[in-house]
Amino acid sequence: MFEQQLRVPGPTPLPSRVLRSQSRPMIDHRGPEFAALIDDLVAGFRWALRTDNDVLLFPSSGTGGLEAAAVNLLSPGERTLFCTMGAFGDRWANIGAAYRADVVRLSASPGEAIDPEDVDRILAEHSDIATVFVTHNETSTGVVNDLPAIAAVVKGRGKLLCVDSVSAAGCMPLDTDQLGIDVLVTGSQKGWMAPPGVAIVAVNRAAFEHAAKASCPRFYFDFAREKKYQDRHQTFTTPPVSVFYALQEGLAIMREEGLEAVWARHSRIAKLIREGVTAIGLRLLAVEGHRSDTVTAILSPTESAEQLKEFRAHLRTTYGLVLAGGQGELDGKIFRIGHLGMIDDADAYAILALLEQGLVDMGLRSRVGLATAAAQAAARGAPVAEPAAVG
Ligand code: PLP
Repeated sequence: MFEQQLRVPGPTPLPSRVLRSQSRPMIDHRGPEFAALIDDLVAGFRWALRTDNDVLLFPSSGTGGLEAAAVNLLSPGERTLFCTMGAFGDRWANIGAAYRADVVRLSASPGEAIDPEDVDRILAEHSDIATVFVTHNETSTGVVNDLPAIAAVVKGRGKLLCVDSVSAAGCMPLDTDQLGIDVLVTGSQKGWMAPPGVAIVAVNRAAFEHAAKASCPRFYFDFAREKKYQDRHQTFTTPPVSVFYALQEGLAIMREEGLEAVWARHSRIAKLIREGVTAIGLRLLAVEGHRSDTVTAILSPTESAEQLKEFRAHLRTTYGLVLAGGQGELDGKIFRIGHLGMIDDADAYAILALLEQGLVDMGLRSRVGLATAAAQAAARGAPVAEPAAVG
């Protein structure tokens, strides 16, 4: 096997242009070449996130971006709303609690989205809440929130809005400024077709002003200091220059395709994947209407957690197809397909064909071809048949 089909929801496969871009020599991160590089990146992210805000680039994984939002906006003891639909929403709430915020948790069951009316009710009950934290796309369950509706509620009540768009930005429709998002976080290893290592955090003026008054301890992720450096076309610490090169190339590829075309491709591929897996009698975790364009969570084809593990291992070792398992309480109950970044229709068909073959190999299904046929029908816009008799 020459290469794996890496289809976890990040890190993603990298285009060869991106891989090659990282072999360039190091440059002085206090010199003019780096200034040009960071300017280009910031312009690219402003384009992709549809924002005129400052875009701060921190050397860290996405979780660092979540922590940055919390430590800059919160003060110990401050009542704060965290909306969570799974592992990553919980992580943000746990960060808030670690920094001693008085966390109000609005939780949706696995597979369900946040109801904007619940957000409104909580904000009405607790008028002292100043900031709302919400996940755009919950990678652990494959659920996408109705972000425009939630943003309308939060901004309608004059609150600050922080959004974890780590696994949605650059793939799914997002208009940061139009929605009034004050802090938006994403990560280099997701839709941006780059390796892990950079947290991208778009911060507006209201958030900077609030941060100046908030009193949580902070050092590495200090928005004000990072902005001071970035205004001089530098970063505070030594940046991961090679990941910056990769992001620059990834953004260039996205610009060539066009932002709305990138969104449309993700939407189309997600549909092919969903039609394919449901055609072979598998069930999706996410409720209808909130199914993610970047990750699909699928209920296990077997009651046995052990057999599910064997199934994923079989796909990996026999066919090189790497899929993700469930996290936390969903471990052993679901598996997940990442379909973000560098992915096209041919990849979707390959994933479906290998998935189906793996099920047949394991004795969990008796024939192949249904998934790809259903995906093809969906691609042609033809009505998709009822799930075939399976087994
Ligand atoms: N938020 C979401 C929605 C994610 O999908 C992830 C990672 O998968 C994170 C946060 C955390 O990012 P990282 O693992 O890069 O720290």
